[in-house]
Amino acid sequence: MMEKQLNDIKYNFEVISERIAQAAAKSGRKPEDITFLAATKTVAPEFINYAISQGLKYIGENKVQELLSKYESYDLENAELHFIGHLQTNKVKQIIGKVSMIQSVDSFKLANEISKHSIKQGIVTDILVEVNIGREENKSGVFPEHLEDLLLQINNLDGISVKGLMAIPPICENKQKICGYFQNMRNLFIDISDKKIDNIRMDVLSMGMSSDYYEAILEGANMVRIGSSLFGERNYN
Ligand SMILES: *Cc1c(COP(=O)(O)O)cnc(C)c1O
Repeated sequence: MMEKQLNDIKYNFEVISERIAQAAAKSGRKPEDITFLAATKTVAPEFINYAISQGLKYIGENKVQELLSKYESYDLENAELHFIGHLQTNKVKQIIGKVSMIQSVDSFKLANEISKHSIKQGIVTDILVEVNIGREENKSGVFPEHLEDLLLQINNLDGISVKGLMAIPPICENKQKICGYFQNMRNLFIDISDKKIDNIRMDVLSMGMSSDYYEAILEGANMVRIGSSLFGERNYN
């Protein structure tokens, strides 16, 4: 049973890496320009570490409790751990120093809390600002029209370093429309880059998941977050 799952992960890892390379080439980039991050929620550490042994270099969790319970088991000698889920300010303290990047910052309050705890530990935590590009009411992320204001509020905080943007566009059957959201994100990313705001880097554009990472890369993503295509469908029971 376990062996079959490991074989599937090995196979999926190769297929996804190849597809990432194709999308990179098609958009005039090299395979190594695109970061393949595995979204590891609900996945047991032995499977995560097996993927790392196959060459995976970035993993991302989206729940603090789950991250903490798996933390000692991850092979972090060979991979970097990111936080990619909605983060409550009262839980920030528990993950600072454990994650190399927090991708889901969408308020001054949260950025300030990350700053405070990072300073306390004498470190700088990399962050991405999450944009609610589909303007969905029940989703995290700053609305596009508030992005620049937020960046101008957080750019002088010590202990954090803004590296780019992240988005989880609405799930949409119509690939054309998905590409529309991805395009909007890319335009925003370029606009902000061009403004050359002090202390704000636009190196990372994190968007695209199992169902749409190929399209996301074609539209400019340089980091994709992939879960179910790598590890199989999630079982939340
Ligand atoms: C689960 C998750 C993903 C990956 O989703 P899949 O559809 O399983 O590839 C990407 N980003 C975030 C923030 C997630 O929580």
